[in-house]
Amino acid sequence: MERPLADEARALIASARLLLEDFIEEGVHSFERAVPTADTTAMHAERARSKPLETAREPVRTAAPPASGIASATPSVELPDEIVWSAQPTLEEVRNELGECTRCGLAVGRNRIVFGDGNPEADLMFVGEGPGQEEDRRGLPFVGKAGELLTQMIEKGLETPRSDVYICNIVKCRPPNNRTPLEAEIASCRPFLDAQIAAVKPKVIVALGKPASSLLLGRDVAITRIRGNWFEYRGIPLMPTLHPAYILRQYTPENRRHVWEDLKAALARSRE
Ligand code: SF4
Repeated sequence: MERPLADEARALIASARLLLEDFIEEGVHSFERAVPTADTTAMHAERARSKPLETAREPVRTAAPPASGIASATPSVELPDEIVWSAQPTLEEVRNELGECTRCGLAVGRNRIVFGDGNPEADLMFVGEGPGQEEDRRGLPFVGKAGELLTQMIEKGLETPRSDVYICNIVKCRPPNNRTPLEAEIASCRPFLDAQIAAVKPKVIVALGKPASSLLLGRDVAITRIRGNWFEYRGIPLMPTLHPAYILRQYTPENRRHVWEDLKAALARSRE
């Protein structure tokens, strides 16, 4: 087997092993095997003939799918209607569509919407959880203490100007007392994250922390177990890693090394 193929196979096997471990942790011990019917056989044949999603130049549609794996609570929010973007939305379009958004309860307590920051054509895109106090005050993502650490890791560690990458969050308004955003809030905001990703078209996404990783992987993940492994989000390679706020709380050489390794791998892949 050629070397790159062998590496890819090893990465796939590692991802499959983690997925199985997650199922076991969640109490799933068996699956029912679906019996093929004439209908399902025809459906699979049709799918095989269809073009892969990322090659289609259809308008990008984003609705509010369930944000699997995120802590849920009483949904006191209004889900947005389906939004139909142009074939290749720009960040400006997405920001205009967002407007002075009141689609979820987080609108009530925010000072500013924190949309995103950086190069609109970045190869590397960072997705975090939500704005904190400083971000809410300035309207920019990752400018508080955790943001300073992220900026240092990007600029000093990766030797890349922060303005070369794109940074945003899964929710654009600050949750009260910096709590984890609720499932319904994430679902309300998700169409805009998806449209940002479609607009930037990064070569690699780095998901910072559990909520962003769980959202983008569509299942509840244990970030300390899955970090450092490659996944995909809508055909884009995705590297989950520890959130800089977690690193600040657990400032151990091991955690710093882990994030450093993950970011180096992400940068290298974005340059391939
Ligand atoms: S978090 Fe997102 S959906 Fe909720 S009000 Fe803010 S911008 Fe709108």
